[in-house]
Amino acid sequence: MNGKRILVTGGAGFLGSHLCHRLIENGHEVLCVDNFFTGRRSNVTALLDHSRFELMRHDVTFPLYVEVDEIYNLACPASPVHYQFDPVQTTKTSVHGAINMLGLAKRTRARIFQASTSEVYGDPAIHPQTESYWGNVNPIGPRSCYDEGKRCAETLFFDYYRQHQTNIKVARIFNTYGPNMHPNDGRVVSNFIVQALQGQPLTIYGDGSQTRSFCYVDDMIEAFCRLMASPPDLTGPVNLGNPTEFTMRELAELTIELTGSRSSLSFAPLPVDDPKQRRPDITLARESLQWEPKVPLKAGLEKTIAYFDALLTT
Ligand code: NAD
Ligand code: UDP
Repeated sequence: MNGKRILVTGGAGFLGSHLCHRLIENGHEVLCVDNFFTGRRSNVTALLDHSRFELMRHDVTFPLYVEVDEIYNLACPASPVHYQFDPVQTTKTSVHGAINMLGLAKRTRARIFQASTSEVYGDPAIHPQTESYWGNVNPIGPRSCYDEGKRCAETLFFDYYRQHQTNIKVARIFNTYGPNMHPNDGRVVSNFIVQALQGQPLTIYGDGSQTRSFCYVDDMIEAFCRLMASPPDLTGPVNLGNPTEFTMRELAELTIELTGSRSSLSFAPLPVDDPKQRRPDITLARESLQWEPKVPLKAGLEKTIAYFDALLTT
């Protein structure tokens, strides 16, 4: 059989569920592991009867003994609302989770992918962000459990690489959106769409001049697969994201336009340590993976709006 045995941690979450679908389509055996903190069985319902798919409830802060060829380590809440709900568990998930999954990769000689984040750059002092930038992260603030947890996980990945020659692939993921996001996820794209569809005011934090660069999920999953399949010397970190940058005010206005909503805009205080700007430099991904995002924000938002519209009316 050509298919590999692939473990996806956090596989019932937003990105994980899309990845599981893609890997099954590509002929692999998939073991989806999740503790269902933010993930949902409904994200993988369509796969439950598939003979090459298995769903296991497990928390990655505990060791896992399975036999696999590849590991995608995605387990970790990604929305500020959720990762700040139990910050100690967030750090444990990133750090103990990385140790457990790296231990598994070492024993099974599996190739291992880490879902790192643009948050390792913090509130960046250079713009756009390149992989060589070391970041500007507050180590003791409300976002630190996530940012420092992910930074420590990167450290562990590179120490396993140097010490044990583990085959690592570290992706620094920038804001990604699309179907299968949780309606109460708390991230900006899902908040704005749900609010617009329900005719509620769109909650802009601060004055809406802060920027983000949004990547549609299909583009991101393509990049994950290319990075995993790349030669062993490409360890990363590799920035993955869409370099087209928008202000949160522009995003709110576009969401209102595309939903045809009569919602107004409301303004709330900017959360502590909220980065003012964020845009990936994806030169490395372009050159080493021959990858760049194809889906423009408007087209991606239309698909995401259709998903939430169906979800909210059922
Ligand atoms: P998500 O919250 O939808 O998915 C995370 C999944 O991990 C959920 O299914 C959750 O239940 C599971 N999980 C959390 N803690 C766990 C634990 N201890 N053990 C087992 N499972 C656990 O978020 P997402 O957007 O799909 O993010 C997936 C990964 O990508 C995360 O590691 C996140 O940090 C990273 N990432 C995402 C983005 C983005 O914009 N979506 C950006 C940067 C990084
Ligand atoms: N944001 C907002 N309204 C919301 C949710 C978020 O204005 O309802 C802002 C948030 O302050 C941040 C940006 O949108 O500046 C992106 O937030 P998100 O939580 O999606 O991701 P982040 O990039 O901050 O991790």
